[in-house]
Order: sequence, then structure tokens, then C-alpha cells
Amino acid sequence: MQIRSPLTWWRFAGADRTRAPGAAAGPALFVWGIALWLATVGNLPLWQHINGLGGTLAQRAALIVGLGLVVAGGSAALLWLLAWPRVFRVAASVLLLVAGANSYFMWQYGVVMDPTMLANALNTDAREVRDLLTWQLPAALLAVAGLPLWALWRRAPLWGRAWPRVRRNALGVLGGLALTVVVALLSYQGLASLMRNHKELRYMANPLNTVYSVTRVAANRLPRQVKPLLPVGEDAVLGASYTHQARPPLLVLVVGETARAQNFGLNGYARDTTPALARWQASGALVNFSQVRSCGTNTLVSVPCLFSPLTRAEGGDQPPEHQNLLDVLQRAGLAVLWLDNQAGCKGVCDRVPHAFAGDHPVPGLCEGSECLDAALLDGLDQRIAALDPQRSARGVVVVMHQMGSHGPAYSLRAPAERKPFMPECRSATLSDCPREQLLNAYDNSIAYTDHFLDLTLQWLKGQADRGSFDTGLIYVSDHGESLGENGLYLHGVPYAFAPDQQTHVPMVAWFSNGLRERAGLSLDCLRQRAAEPVSHDNYFHSVLGLMDVRTRARLPALDALSPCARSAG
Ligand SMILES: [Zn+2]
Repeated sequence: MQIRSPLTWWRFAGADRTRAPGAAAGPALFVWGIALWLATVGNLPLWQHINGLGGTLAQRAALIVGLGLVVAGGSAALLWLLAWPRVFRVAASVLLLVAGANSYFMWQYGVVMDPTMLANALNTDAREVRDLLTWQLPAALLAVAGLPLWALWRRAPLWGRAWPRVRRNALGVLGGLALTVVVALLSYQGLASLMRNHKELRYMANPLNTVYSVTRVAANRLPRQVKPLLPVGEDAVLGASYTHQARPPLLVLVVGETARAQNFGLNGYARDTTPALARWQASGALVNFSQVRSCGTNTLVSVPCLFSPLTRAEGGDQPPEHQNLLDVLQRAGLAVLWLDNQAGCKGVCDRVPHAFAGDHPVPGLCEGSECLDAALLDGLDQRIAALDPQRSARGVVVVMHQMGSHGPAYSLRAPAERKPFMPECRSATLSDCPREQLLNAYDNSIAYTDHFLDLTLQWLKGQADRGSFDTGLIYVSDHGESLGENGLYLHGVPYAFAPDQQTHVPMVAWFSNGLRERAGLSLDCLRQRAAEPVSHDNYFHSVLGLMDVRTRARLPALDALSPCARSAG
């Protein structure tokens, strides 16, 4: 191999190469320039985070420089892979913008870009995105990506002939990877213990976190979407309580949104955020479950998992491969209806009748297609009357998927006349608001959920009093929320290191006398056991037990109500 003079290296990087000097530069300059930029400016939140972890200045500096070189090497390898005419400028621009957007969300909300966060982001609708956009986002994009974008689009890389280009890019990829590996080995001890103790850092390195997540999500989802779901509970039949029944049962399952147990008055929160539920509890038929764990820290994981036959440990938190609770209820012969006031049911309601509150906006409750949760109750009698009469004569299960406390625009979740806690934060930039105002806005959304559940319970009690149905309600939130504790906002922190606020969720159940008698449930027993730990794992089995659906898919051991049921099992 011939040895190149420094001048030849400079040429190899392509700095001159005829034409007007300075008008174009070789890809190496662009690749390494952008890689170094990404590793420094593009990762300021990561360096800030590590700087805040403690240790001596020298230790922190060594970690930051070491990890910085690892990120630079990884980014360079990635950019060399993309260094082709017509591809490079667009791809590099996307990476720079992704780094800018990630930095913004890390700064504002303390979120990290892991595969579930990305999948969740891809599943949100325009309305949810609008809530997250503030003027600071373009400012962050400009600060993080502006200068390199300007340089990149002002001067085109000079590409050269095809064959040397392939060799150069291959060498570039190897060079980038070599830098990453060598630095990682040299600083192994420091970096390894840092990663072990602070797992969140793995998802903080821009823009590699997003590239990794995109690959994972694509690899996970694409093949599964075309695969049909495995059937569940093919043997499902209705139990003996349905023969000669005086009235059919009607169960409402309220799937809450972003409510955390800590701010629920019934769980001993210092503020009375749940006055109506407290009255229902005092009158005897409402039970508050105080130790409930969610399956995930975001909607996309938690909602399918809640209805999944699998526990979290069995893979209930993964993209579903099985049918769910609603398929089993429908297969047993019951009428099932999903009413949504959010960004959809994440595939759970695909095979049962479903409707969106925003499709028929209710005056006073909806603005555009965005509705307060009370809109879910609008025309409910007609909606139930429109279900298959043979099925609804046996029994009905209605799921109501709330908007609940969906952030960051908590202040939009309750109407002006239902805001007991003022003044409240009205900014989507949560860290801008004084903490009391942020709590006020969030607590107002919980108080509105209390009101919504009160309206639903009144409707259910009316149905029971009129003798139309034996009614019941189970409310459980999909996941919790961080409100600035440890600098975190919103939710979606990877489960393994999620704070308690994101996984400890509220849950209540209410049964009319008729439904309690059918199921043989003892209220005293339920109240005594209401502080036992339960989780989303128990939902599938408990609902089937309560509705007396017999199937081998139901595991009595996971039925949280069965210890208090006469006909356990
Ligand atoms: Zn959610």
C-alpha cells in the first residue's frame, strides 16, 4: 500500500479537486464535520445530564469526552453509510433535525427516545402533536441544526468517481466504527458502570437513539401486522348465570388516560380531587383499589396489554400477537362496544363495533373534533339500542376510552366551570409554569375525570334502578405521569427505570346489587382486599370472571375479584 503524504490525505478528503477552490469539499469534511457537531452541540442534554450526575470534574470530563468520541465515531460510520450523491444531504439534514427535535423534547419533558417512545410518537394524531408544539421547538431546531444545515446546503460535497467512492465509504464506515470501539475499550470501566447505573443514557445519544429505535420498531412491527392474530378463548361460552336471567348484565370499562394514583383523592392525596367518587364510596358500592401497577408507561403499550390474555412478563407489553379480551367477550355471545375520545384504540377494538366521540361533535362538549370526556355519554342509550339485539339481550360490555389527563395541555381537559384548583398552567412548556400551577392544571383534569365517572355511575345506577340491566363499572388508568419530579415531565420512561408516578395508577370498581348478586361478590371482602397489589395483568381474567364467561383462557389465579366471589373459579 502506498503511503500518502499529508497533502494527499487532504486531497483524499476532497478539499480541492479542481473547479473553483473552496466551492466544494469532499464528503470526508462533511461527514466528520457533522459527526463532531452532532457529538457536541447535538447532544447537549446528554452532556448536561452526565455533568449533573456527580463525581469530580475530571471524572465527568473523562466520561463526556469518552462518550462524545463514541457518539462521533458512531455518527460518522452512519453518515459514511449514507454518503452517496442525492442521498447524503437529505439524510444528513434529517439526522440533524432529529437531533434538534430530540434535544428539545429531552430539555422540555425529560423524555428519552427509546423504541416504545418512538412507536408511541408514530401513533399519536395531529391533535396530540399540536399540543406538544411550542415556539421553542423551531428555536431548538435552529440552534442545534441551523449552522450545519446552512453549510451543508450551501456547498455540495464533491463526489468523485463511483468505484473509489465505494471504497472510500467502506473505509469511512470502518474508521468510524474503529474510533467507537477503541474509545469504548479505553474508557470501558467508566462508561460501563455509567451505563449500568444510568440506563436512560442509552437512549439519550442523538441521533443514534432514533436510528436504533426506528430499526427496532420497523423490525418488530412490519412482519406482525401482516400476520393474523392468534385466536384466544375459542371455547368461550356464557356461564350458568345467563340461563333464565331477569336482566342482562351491562358492564362499563373506563380506560383512563395519564391519571396517576398519587393525585387521586381516594388514595389519600392532600387535595380532594375525587369528591364524587368519595360519595359513591361512602354509600357503599364503590371500591377503590389503591395499589395498582400499569403494564407500560405509555398508551401504545398499556392499552393493548390491559386487554391482552398475556401478563406483562409473558409479553403482554409487546405488540400483540393474540386476540384480546373484547374478542373473547364477543365470541361468548355478548354485545361489545368501544367508544373512543382519544387517538384510537391501538388495534384493540378492530373486530368489535366502535365509534369516536369526535365524529359527532356534541355542542358545548366538543370543539372541532376534540371533546370533553362527558361527550362519551352523549346518546349512549341509542348507541346501545343500536347493537345486535340478540347479543345485547344476553349482556353488554361498553369500553370508554377517555382523554382523561392527557398532557401537556392539561388545562384543556376540563371546562372553565369545573376547575376547582386555580390559577392553572396553560402553557405546553410545562417547565415554564410554576409548579403549583402545573399541579393545579393536572388536578383539575383528575377532578374532571371524577365528574365524568360520577355521570357514568349515575347513568348506570339509573339503568339498574329501572330494571333494564344489572350494571357495573371498572375504571383503571393506562399509565401515570411525571409532573416535574426529578426533572421529568409527561410519561413514557422505559419501564425498567420508570418512576413510581408513571406506573402506579388509580382503579375503582362499582357494582349494582343485581350484578353483585349475579357474580356472588362480597363487597366487604373486596374492601378488605382493596389495598392488595394488583396490576393490568389481572384485568383480562377479572372481567371474564365478573361477566361469567367460561373459557380455558381465563386463569382463576389471576382474577383479582374471584377471592371475593361465591363461585370462585
Ligand atoms: Zn396513555
